[in-house]
Amino acid sequence: MTEVKLIEWIRRRAGTSRQMLKGIGDDCAILRPRPGEDLLFTTDLFVEDVHFRHATHSAAECGHTALARGLSDIAAMGGEPRFCLLSLAAGKGIGSQWVEGFIKGLLATARRVKCHLAGGDLGHGARTVADIVVCGAVPQGKALRRDTARAGDRICVTGALGAAALSLSEGHPLPPDPRLKEGVALRKLGATAAIDLSDGLSLDLHRLAEASGLAAMLDGPLPVCEGASLEQALHGGEDYELLFTMPKNARIPRSAAGTPVTAIGTMVKGRRGQVRVPGGVLEPLGYDHFRKPKP
Ligand SMILES: [Mg+2]
Repeated sequence: MTEVKLIEWIRRRAGTSRQMLKGIGDDCAILRPRPGEDLLFTTDLFVEDVHFRHATHSAAECGHTALARGLSDIAAMGGEPRFCLLSLAAGKGIGSQWVEGFIKGLLATARRVKCHLAGGDLGHGARTVADIVVCGAVPQGKALRRDTARAGDRICVTGALGAAALSLSEGHPLPPDPRLKEGVALRKLGATAAIDLSDGLSLDLHRLAEASGLAAMLDGPLPVCEGASLEQALHGGEDYELLFTMPKNARIPRSAAGTPVTAIGTMVKGRRGQVRVPGGVLEPLGYDHFRKPKP
């Protein structure tokens, strides 16, 4: 397929919404926000041999995962997705058939969560790289942020931890399932702060605590996924569960949009960003692209 035909093929499948005055097919897409909404924007790189391998991930899985990573950020802010933009460079030897598979996987997920593909760019590169921009929306002033937790707030998490690290160690990585409905439910339940677990509990909790100018104390049993180790639950990345805080005296919900919720700790005054466990300090060992390996 030629690039022109491929873009036409994508345009016909991309879908549209009432807010989308113009999708694929002009120099820019046009979106008219609803009155009283704040818009959320996030961008995510999805790179061959860093985030996926052609040998272990199908084209459709790559399309799904590339979008799901961005959707998880929208979920973490309590938002609903509105549209996405995709820039895709196909690596050496990767043809239009793979690109079609990628787009099909992406659009199947996009349709399910009403996040329309509104534009993008296609090209070739030394390796396959996808960059996805996702735009979401929340009622004005209601976005869940990571810098608004308060001392005394309870720290909670959705679902079970360590599943992604376990599945990766077994050689069949799990496709992420972004917690969009859960994020909206937590916003409505009055969560005070939230972050998605993309890089592991130890690192993402450290980030939330640091942003809020507080320390965190882990004092409850963790919801470790069956078969996973405590290490995998604490430091394994890509679980894409939501880590959030609830006010001190609020009732902790048993579940959010059908997903179990577990209270695992408390935000406390102390060294900014420090994560404590009974009898010690938990180092943020989750995934960091720029951390130098230990000699
Ligand atoms: Mg995130």
